Amino acid sequence: MQKADRLGKLPPYLFVTIRNKIREARERGIDVISLGVGDPDQPTPPHVIQALQQAAEDPANHVYPTDEEKGMLKFRQSVARWYAERFGVKLNPETEVLALIGSKEGNHHLCLATLNPGDTAILPDPGYPAYFASAVFAGAEVERIPLSREDGFLPRFDKIPEELAKKAKLLFLCYPNNPTGAVATLEFWQEAVAWAKKYDVILVNDHPYSEVTFDGYRSVSILEAEGAMDVAVEFNSLSKPYNMTGWRIGMAVGNSELIAGISQVKENTDSGVFNAVQYAAIAALDGPQEASRELMNLYKARRDRVLETLRSIGLNPDTPKATFYVWSPTPEGMSSADFAAAVLDKAGVVVTPGRGYGENGEGFFRISLTVADDRLDEALARIKAAFS
Ligand code: PLP
Repeated sequence: MQKADRLGKLPPYLFVTIRNKIREARERGIDVISLGVGDPDQPTPPHVIQALQQAAEDPANHVYPTDEEKGMLKFRQSVARWYAERFGVKLNPETEVLALIGSKEGNHHLCLATLNPGDTAILPDPGYPAYFASAVFAGAEVERIPLSREDGFLPRFDKIPEELAKKAKLLFLCYPNNPTGAVATLEFWQEAVAWAKKYDVILVNDHPYSEVTFDGYRSVSILEAEGAMDVAVEFNSLSKPYNMTGWRIGMAVGNSELIAGISQVKENTDSGVFNAVQYAAIAALDGPQEASRELMNLYKARRDRVLETLRSIGLNPDTPKATFYVWSPTPEGMSSADFAAAVLDKAGVVVTPGRGYGENGEGFFRISLTVADDRLDEALARIKAAFS
């Protein structure tokens, strides 16, 4: 069977490659502990599960989703309330909010809604690998801009070549950032909006880690920046704050034309999210937030133990204020692939090589904090013993 050319343009999906490595090591009898994928180990809060159960029993919810691809108005109103409370951002639930099958879906469908074959999308390097596939599926050309540790893993708008800025149609950003854990300030978003307006570029902030924050830090929505509504869309998700990665629900918020464009793609593709899942999401967004706060304390404690271990073996990672990742330099002179292979060989632990997130990820590796405490501690003890 002759597959479409677009599939040939994609590198192997990073986490599929890692899953295969884990399987091979397990087949060799190694008790592998994976600190690779960021997928919460804790359960969804009980009140959210109950809301799903109740809604699933009602035959009214067994039909195509109400309001189809846009999501139920009740869900969109709930998102608007959540954004107003957290970020002080006022959203019109009719036109500026859309239900998504996770933020990953939003990134993908935004590309189909906005990019023509041959258009240019700018991606951060290092960056979340799915952006590349989304742009390529739309037929776009991809250009990458470097994120460096000296700049806090934020792009330097003054260093984006004029020629690239002029031809770019869309810029993907993600703060709090996967994989680096970096965060953005309101001043940064203001600068991004000014740049996007100057060059007529669509700005995206992929924001699924907005709630995964520590030490009193509050994430800033791109929509808090003045004028952002003219050029920006933000994707958010129930996946991380409420341990709902498997439920597949998130939201797009922002510029109404961009929201309408994504909605039009969805109308012709997936017909939206199961009503019962939307009711569960409303329960999560509107309900008690204690479980989410406790979850962040759990990640913070794990983060601190990971940092302590890495520093004890001579590495110097920054302390992330957000996300459930620790992004660390590899030992001096060691490539990220060699270090990840050594950690697997010597400690039976999977870490993600930074090169998997782009050229500028070289020299770094990522540890995910979404593994049960006893397994994380076992992994850290093994790493310490192997590299001390
Ligand atoms: N965007 C980023 C930056 C992510 O790290 C992830 C998941 O790891 C996603 C999107 C996917 O999130 P969702 O489950 O909402 O599709």
